Amino acid sequence: MEVYGVKKIRKSDIERALGTAVTLYKESVTSLGECTLALVRNGKKKYLIAKGSGPMFDELEGKVTDDLKICPANHANRLVLNTYLPYTKPTTNKDGRPSIGLGDRLGEATPGHIKALGNKNIFPYFAQQSIRELNLTGRTFDGVIDDAAYAVFQCGYTAGWGADGDHLKKEEEIKTALRSGATMITLDSSEMIDNTIAGLPEKELLVRYGNVDEKTRTFYENLYKERTFTFGTLSLTLDTVSLMKDILIYGKALDYIQKIWETFPEFKANEAFLEVSIDETATPTDPKSHLFIALELKRRGVLLKTLAPRFAGEFQKGIDYIGDLAQFERELIIHETIALAHDYRLSVHSGSDKFSIFPLLAKHIDRPFHVKTAGTNWLEAMHVVALTDPSLYRRMHTHALARFKDATAFYVVTTDLSKIKPLDKVSDQQLCDYLKDDNARQLLHITYGYLLQDKDEKGAYLFRDEFFALLGKEEELYQDLLAKHIGKHFELLGWKK
Ligand code: ZN
Repeated sequence: MEVYGVKKIRKSDIERALGTAVTLYKESVTSLGECTLALVRNGKKKYLIAKGSGPMFDELEGKVTDDLKICPANHANRLVLNTYLPYTKPTTNKDGRPSIGLGDRLGEATPGHIKALGNKNIFPYFAQQSIRELNLTGRTFDGVIDDAAYAVFQCGYTAGWGADGDHLKKEEEIKTALRSGATMITLDSSEMIDNTIAGLPEKELLVRYGNVDEKTRTFYENLYKERTFTFGTLSLTLDTVSLMKDILIYGKALDYIQKIWETFPEFKANEAFLEVSIDETATPTDPKSHLFIALELKRRGVLLKTLAPRFAGEFQKGIDYIGDLAQFERELIIHETIALAHDYRLSVHSGSDKFSIFPLLAKHIDRPFHVKTAGTNWLEAMHVVALTDPSLYRRMHTHALARFKDATAFYVVTTDLSKIKPLDKVSDQQLCDYLKDDNARQLLHITYGYLLQDKDEKGAYLFRDEFFALLGKEEELYQDLLAKHIGKHFELLGWKK
């Protein structure tokens, strides 16, 4: 926006007022009536700088020095920013763009994600965190959305963005996420899914099925038993055995999803999009089970926007897809057919770095879909460390090795630590090669909580302060690495415009 001379914010004035050097983000400079606003950074801290007068100037919390108001980039000021500059507030994907969950595990990745997006017609979820990630990083939903909103303001990104409360299981968690401003909720009903059924022999299956009350059984059987559903060239029959299994596996989860849908009017009002995730199960989602779930949710009036089945193969964190690509492709076509017929999109979880399946998604899904990346921005941050501070990298890598076993309690990986080259055999210049090695990537990927939060015996963080100071200093490099890495995702997904 045009900045009038009298209210022009000068870097030198800010530095005088703060008594220290700052980075002034040029794209942030915005005039609103009588007030000009900008974002600056000093080390790890960001500040809003206001100059002029008017309601926004008055409502911001801060200290007036000379003619500038120096305001901390905190939660209260983020809400003021949201009121006066609506593009800084998370929104839903109203115009149905292809969408990607980027998340920003560190609160430092969003400017790089914005760089990766360029002018592409993609709807980004800059904020996307699960409770697991919040716990492991010591953050809150409010904090995550605050960081993303400030980054959006910093870069002058006005194209709209979302916030996803990822893999939420409890009503209370959903309530908190929505109150913080989440515009998408990924409901994880895995605790209601019965993982003991899939492999049962038929005799035991019949016993278990017999324990379901008769009214429920008759109800479902009248609706679905041995019925064939046809969608174009695809025909699926809900045979007796599949139906029995699906009622046992998903019955409780379906009741729960319906309850959540009915509890939060935000979904019906389209203020937040509902995703149902059934990806954290013991076995891949059978296409017939997907059909049963789709039919049931529709019958119950639950209008989800996206559904994440568990696809065949493995979607481990930080590395490419492991599995049979031909089987993935066959099942993808069926899952997409069912999703299309029931008016929601497919969502692919743990989608970062799954480069070998992206061309298949592009080929077989003839409409927008959703991909969630999972913390790949953390690995790019470690890439920055490897490139710019070998000593810090070596210490973090060593600590990751020591904490790896603990981290496997939270993440399923097939990492072989013995295949990771010992640090003393690697020169400083070669440290970044670890980021090209699947085993080392997973080692670093799953230990982030310990690397960020562990403290020494005096109670000081082992790495956190040094790590964030470095990311702040190397912010341009971090942006470039993210733009390149995430850009490769867009390219292979066929999201070129
Ligand atoms: Zn998932």
